[in-house]
Amino acid sequence: MNMPKFQIGDIVLVPKCEGVKEYATCPECSGNKFVTVIAGKNPPVTINCQLCCRTPYDESSAGVVAYYSQKASVELATIHGMEINRDGIIEYRTSRGIFKDDQVFHQANRLAAANRALQLAEEHNNSELDRVNQKVKPNKTWAWNASYHRKEIKEALRRLEHHTEALAVAARLQKKEKEAK
Ligand SMILES: [Zn+2]
Repeated sequence: MNMPKFQIGDIVLVPKCEGVKEYATCPECSGNKFVTVIAGKNPPVTINCQLCCRTPYDESSAGVVAYYSQKASVELATIHGMEINRDGIIEYRTSRGIFKDDQVFHQANRLAAANRALQLAEEHNNSELDRVNQKVKPNKTWAWNASYHRKEIKEALRRLEHHTEALAVAARLQKKEKEAK
């Protein structure tokens, strides 16, 4: 069994978790902000990219998607407790959070601690970028978006026609009223 390297009250070095908001090129539109959809026999249409051209990304940042990258650094922490997790690995409860055995270092081992922090930050950032780049499906498909816009145009044209007619009828009635006077 693993023996704990540290005791309660020890002051040690742990990786410092600090997320920095960064932007990656949108994986759907490659930063173009628009995508062209070809669906069925319909002519291709170009519509706003649904992944980056919507909240929470404002207009100015469209074409990119935000993610949190981790900066690598170390900081001092006091050990408050320790336990063995399900995988048999010792975890230290510290003033800076819970850290696995291989993330906690003696104060004299600053270089090793910094290297481990760098490694952890890299692992985190790679998995974040993977997450961003794996085609995050917008909740509706592109074809759905295109057909939605087509339907809306049809409906808008129908309404335009209806209201134009209504106005024409009103104008005719007004004219008749005037003539009757
Ligand atoms: Zn996009």
